[in-house]
Amino acid sequence: WSPHASPPRSLERPDRAWRGWSQVPRCLQRYSAAVTHGEEHTVSEIRLDSYEAHFAARTRGMAASEIRALFAVANRPEVVSLAGGMPFLSALDLDAVGDLARQVIAEEGSVALQYGGGQGHAPLREQLAHVMDHEGVPAHADELVVTTGGQQALDLTAKLLCNPGDVVLAEGPSYVGALSAFSAYEAEVMHVPMDGDGIAPDVLAERLGRIRASGRRPKFLYTVPNHQNPAGVSLSEGRRQQLAEIAAREDLLIVEDNPYGLLDFKGEMRTALRSLVPERTIYIGTLSKIFSPGIRVGWIAAPGPLREKFVLLKEAADLCQSNLTQLLANRWLSTQDWQGLIEAFRDGHRERSDAMLSELTAEMPEGSTWNIPAGGFFVWLSLPPGMDARELLPKALNARVAYVPGAAFFADGSGGEHMRLSYCYPTPDRIREGVRRLGSVVRTEAEL
Ligand code: PMP
Repeated sequence: WSPHASPPRSLERPDRAWRGWSQVPRCLQRYSAAVTHGEEHTVSEIRLDSYEAHFAARTRGMAASEIRALFAVANRPEVVSLAGGMPFLSALDLDAVGDLARQVIAEEGSVALQYGGGQGHAPLREQLAHVMDHEGVPAHADELVVTTGGQQALDLTAKLLCNPGDVVLAEGPSYVGALSAFSAYEAEVMHVPMDGDGIAPDVLAERLGRIRASGRRPKFLYTVPNHQNPAGVSLSEGRRQQLAEIAAREDLLIVEDNPYGLLDFKGEMRTALRSLVPERTIYIGTLSKIFSPGIRVGWIAAPGPLREKFVLLKEAADLCQSNLTQLLANRWLSTQDWQGLIEAFRDGHRERSDAMLSELTAEMPEGSTWNIPAGGFFVWLSLPPGMDARELLPKALNARVAYVPGAAFFADGSGGEHMRLSYCYPTPDRIREGVRRLGSVVRTEAEL
């Protein structure tokens, strides 16, 4: 496992010491701290329960996500990580980005190193509107608010709309970062099932009726309509129309989170919900998957009254987005062939997806199923009946392959038979090796 530290016993002897998933995040955290800092230098543990009374009620249920705990172990070089959603950046020309960064400081240093406005740097907003336009989603720069990635947009959305106990509808499964953002404001997530065409509108309508009948208010529907994280499917055109009709009829806000829309393998673009019901849609975009996640630039496009509140919330959260990264992003989008980079990313993802799919076909035992992605980063795999991806994880880590158990993507912890496999980061050869290791673990389990 590591030259520096011994693995926790539950990882070393999974069948002996394994006493349920609840142990795993803590032991992974402690193990990863030991690996990162060396055994002698670990920070002494302060008993957290002595602070319990100080915490705001809304934070009491917060715990490290399974994904976060996993990352530290999954990032060990000997482990093939099919867990993370990190884009591979090898197609990005770092010298060009470096030159732009130098130009930003040399030519606009007094702006770049100063505070900016709460809505975001106007020239960047112009460029972001072009990015939306490129995807066929009309927007004006004045309609946008720049955020620290799409993640802050999700946080501000929940902050703006959710009172404790409000119901938020979301695909089942759903992006884990959105679930964390919503639960931080004590919203209750109700999942609506998906199939190969995305979320099911008839079930959505039925759930809405049920929520209203119980006297509660559904605050919004959260959806990732393109190459969804984690299920890897896209909402069909027909269902987009149906969702738009439901939103208009039921006065339901839609939060349309779209990090992957430009990453279709064939360059296909789908109709945005924002285009169909702009007055009821909060659209969230990000440069994380089409340029760089490290730059932390995302944005919200929302109707006027919502937008004004978003600016106030953004200012309350962090005064303004970093001008330095906004100016760098602006230069990138206004001077470089960013559409060409997106194509290079797409080609890289398609090659990786093909590697994963062919190896899954060769390695997975009967009874396992998975989607064939048309873009994005993810394969959603269902294990043979009776198997649980959480219980399998320590064995997979021992076999030096990591994935995210499906239960991480459901607010109620269901989905145990699924796992999310990401093909966005490792090389195709590493992906094949990772799937071979995983296949061997799953086959052994299936034979038991
Ligand atoms: N939404 C979805 C669906 C995502 O997959 C991610 C990143 N994994 C985000 C939002 C947030 O990304 P960022 O904050 O980097 O823009």
